[in-house]
Amino acid sequence: MNFEKLYLDKVEQARSKKAKEILETKGVDVNCPNCDSKITVNSLNYECPHCNKSFEVEFNHN
Ligand SMILES: [Zn+2]
Repeated sequence: MNFEKLYLDKVEQARSKKAKEILETKGVDVNCPNCDSKITVNSLNYECPHCNKSFEVEFNHN
């Protein structure tokens, strides 16, 4: 299993619990870290529908 990590800096203003809530309710638009396709992720482990690779979503707290 080759997990890419995707860092969500779009939600940097939110802190982990809130950010996770947003992710699981609305989803967050990002580019796949593997194939760069635009996708909407809605869970912390997501499989890209374009390249079928799984990746782990992490929030960037910087
Ligand atoms: Zn992909």
